[in-house]
Amino acid sequence: MTSILVIEDDPSIRAALEQGLADRGHTVQTAATGIAGLEAVLGDRPDLVLLDLGLPDVDGITIISMIRAGSSIPIIVITAVDDDPTMVRALDSGADDYVVKPFRLEQVTARVRAVLRRSRRGATSEPIHVGELQIHAPTRTASLAGQPLSLARREFDLLLALAERAGEVVSKRTLLAEVWQQADGGSERTVDVHLSWLRHKLGETAAEPRYLESVRGVGVRLVDPTT
Ligand code: CA
Repeated sequence: MTSILVIEDDPSIRAALEQGLADRGHTVQTAATGIAGLEAVLGDRPDLVLLDLGLPDVDGITIISMIRAGSSIPIIVITAVDDDPTMVRALDSGADDYVVKPFRLEQVTARVRAVLRRSRRGATSEPIHVGELQIHAPTRTASLAGQPLSLARREFDLLLALAERAGEVVSKRTLLAEVWQQADGGSERTVDVHLSWLRHKLGETAAEPRYLESVRGVGVRLVDPTT
């Protein structure tokens, strides 16, 4: 069971997150101010923090820095506006991901799952295997049938994002948010272009895919072609 700390001053949003995450089997604690949240991080050592950036006492970015001074606990930021500079500052300060209000609960829980998967793998630093593909996040290396792949930064991030959900269809919007940090306004064409480069490096084509399977109108999934 995963314990999640929700730091959010808006009572209705706080209650909705508490209920929704509890319904999905998480243990949830809440804090209404930044200081109370920091105390809970230090005292209760939750597995993940959901942090609203607009808090009444301390700026959310400052809270991230204070948490990061002593902890590598995963942090997902919640923010009211789709404000790119703030988001970039939050990520630079050490946040792992973000959700923009108004959000659907499913978006939050999907991010929670993805961030927890990443942090667990980071802790064990085990490579991901999909067929003959091997992806190692800590060293940012990948190989196919034992041959190292030479991937550009975004290509690696894209492959990793798909490998973390191997077998699942991942929407291009999710990929834009995770790989390019563009939740809205990003062009899906960006994803298509990088997918075609990645395909080339994996020695396959869109017409004859092996690992990268496009699902029309939905997204793309990484599959094991050897099964
Ligand atoms: Ca707020």
